[in-house]
Amino acid sequence: DPDVLLGPADIRELAARLGVRPTKQRGQNFVIDANTVRRIVRTAGVRPDDVVVEIGPGLGSLTLALLEAADRVTAVEIDDVLAAALPATVEARLPGRADRFALVHQDALRVTELPGPAPTALVANLPYNVAVPVLLHMLARFPSIERTLVMVQSEVADRLAAAPGSKVYGVPSVKAAWYARVKRAGAIGRNVFWPAPNVDSGLVSLERRPEPPRTTASREEVFAVVDAAFAQRRKTLRAALAGWAGSAAAAEAALTAAGISPQARGEALTVEDFAAIAEHRPASG
Ligand code: SAM
Repeated sequence: DPDVLLGPADIRELAARLGVRPTKQRGQNFVIDANTVRRIVRTAGVRPDDVVVEIGPGLGSLTLALLEAADRVTAVEIDDVLAAALPATVEARLPGRADRFALVHQDALRVTELPGPAPTALVANLPYNVAVPVLLHMLARFPSIERTLVMVQSEVADRLAAAPGSKVYGVPSVKAAWYARVKRAGAIGRNVFWPAPNVDSGLVSLERRPEPPRTTASREEVFAVVDAAFAQRRKTLRAALAGWAGSAAAAEAALTAAGISPQARGEALTVEDFAAIAEHRPASG
């Protein structure tokens, strides 16, 4: 509905009225194109029974499209002015859905609970400077989130969706794979934003795995191996994991016990491989 979604003139008018001056520091680039938000909602596969959590609703471009498609939307916004203004925008544009919308005025990285029923989907145009930590935090904190569609900087989209062996496979790829099957789901040009960012964007879809990798190690223990392995990504695992294991010899023993070549590099390993290594950390390491 053209009277619901926000176009370029609506965004400018709203921003001017609220005195909003978008900041880079908070990754504030607002979508000014109704087709783009429709496409995001469609790609996310939002269903009428979904309880969607959105991070960083900004002026509400995506929020309104989500509210049209979902049962409920809960939006988490850090910015005082944007958070204060959004309920009125929803009320003005979608009065019939306003009671299905909740605004949480908080830093998404600090969110530990949300009002209303447990979220089933996460859909967001993430603030680029904290995109990966916010995504991982939400997946860890809200296991009820089954489907996720996020818009991030194109490079970050590639990294999140990378498979072992790829040049851009790294910490975000492995950690995202702990939670979900991750796929690139399209590209978005910079001209659909105000202000236009210096980079293109990409969509990433994450379908939660029925179960995390089977391992006796905790997620934190597995992630510690991942961080150590990629902190020195050009080194062999034997060398890169020396600090983690206590010594290079101890790292070699753990790797061998896990069935991984000590000469391999982190970029060749799957999340299951990292989980196997974590199980074999020396007790005194
Ligand atoms: N969803 C809107 C859109 O598509 O037009 C705005 C997206 S903009 C890229 C990112 C939004 O995230 C901004 O509204 C910004 O204020 C907000 N934001 C930045 N850091 C945040 C954080 N740590 N927690 C919650 N929101 C944050």
